[in-house]
Amino acid sequence: MTEKNNLSFENTEIAFRHSSNSDLKRAYWLFKVINVNFLVKIGPPITNFAINIGLPIKGLIKATIFKHFCGGETIAECDKTIKNLYNGGVGTILDYSIEGEDDEHVFDNTRDEIIRTIERAAVDKSVPITVFKVTGVARFSLLEKLDEKAQLSILEQEEWEKVQSRVLAICTAAHAKGIPVMIDAEESWIQKTIDMLALDMMHLYNTEKAIVYNTYQLYRHDKLQSLKNDHEVASTGGFILGAKLVRGAYMEKERKRAEEKGYQSPIQPDKQSSDRDYDLSLDYCTDHVAQIAFVAGTHNEESCRKLAELLDKKNIDHNNPHVYFSQLLGMSDNLSFNLANAKYNVAKYVPYGPIKAVLPYLFRRAQENTAIAGQMSRELGLITKEVKRRKLSK
Ligand SMILES: Cc1cc2nc3c(=O)[nH]c(=O)nc-3n(C[C@H](O)[C@H](O)[C@H](O)COP(=O)(O)OP(=O)(O)OC[C@H]3O[C@@H](n4cnc5c(N)ncnc54)[C@H](O)[C@@H]3O)c2cc1C
Repeated sequence: MTEKNNLSFENTEIAFRHSSNSDLKRAYWLFKVINVNFLVKIGPPITNFAINIGLPIKGLIKATIFKHFCGGETIAECDKTIKNLYNGGVGTILDYSIEGEDDEHVFDNTRDEIIRTIERAAVDKSVPITVFKVTGVARFSLLEKLDEKAQLSILEQEEWEKVQSRVLAICTAAHAKGIPVMIDAEESWIQKTIDMLALDMMHLYNTEKAIVYNTYQLYRHDKLQSLKNDHEVASTGGFILGAKLVRGAYMEKERKRAEEKGYQSPIQPDKQSSDRDYDLSLDYCTDHVAQIAFVAGTHNEESCRKLAELLDKKNIDHNNPHVYFSQLLGMSDNLSFNLANAKYNVAKYVPYGPIKAVLPYLFRRAQENTAIAGQMSRELGLITKEVKRRKLSK
């Protein structure tokens, strides 16, 4: 029997081995609260208001939702989480999750912090990959202007040069240390600029090893084709394509903007189409695994199973360095730990940063968990099953 046939995502003992009883209890109540749509809707404005007027609620956030979905406020605070994950064979992707900032000093600090994650990865095998968002080092509206090919003022031109040098500094550090760095995908109206930066960096640094990875959002109807086009560019240019494959996180925003501005939405017509293209992209990448290094960023059980099966079918080693599974901290541990137990490469995003700066990320997780049909009850069901198992095994 092949290892594939033994793969089960139902083993909660493996999934939650790293979680104490009190971790499980906290997670149970957290997901119960997130399940209440109303609370998730009113939570963000109330929380922001409370923090802005100085109410002491940071402690409460830190002990609950932050503790579940984030590693800490600094890299050092993430140590416990990094160790915990690694004990179960799961790597950490330190994700400095500062969002929505608009200040040149903050952008420089973010660049330096991302380089610190790369330096940490260079001396710690439990941190195999790193990541950043271009909007962490660039003003959103500048990227938007570049995407529209609008004329930049002289000041904006200088600003853009600084952005490019920050991206270059991050990728140069990654290359010098031999550590892969992924560039997250964002809204479609800034994505052309991000794609261009990412391909330039791959051209520069992926000739011997996959260092830079771009992200492909398969909820866009044009992205399977982009993946194939970029593969072609990589083959002609003599470099390895680095690809993170995700479905995409901004669906509602994308559809709303397209409707308001009267252009065709870039999003697939339905979920099945996103699923189909996601799975086709797994097929494509496994067909070209020597030239494409890829990370499957998904909580979808079927896609994880499909990739695991493809690897076996195409005789690709479970631990081939060009293939990674990835989930977010606090979600789908049943996938991450059972895959790692079957010796596949797995790494989880561990977001960290000052609580206030991480709030948009946390609200997105809460909203996403409410929005994903079945995800909520699945997490709750698994936690309940593990709590019962522990009681019975006493
Ligand atoms: C490790 C990791 C890294 C990530 N990085 C990024 C990133 O860089 N950029 C980014 O945008 N997102 C990123 N995400 C989020 C990701 O794009 C998804 O939003 C999230 O993972 C849910 O999709 P799924 O494949 O896990 O599961 P599923 O629950 O199977 O899929 C839900 C997703 O399907 C799509 N979908 C749902 N309904 C429809 C519909 N009616 N029509 C068309 N499509 C539909 C949406 O993309 C939705 O998020 C990342 C996720 C992970 C785990």
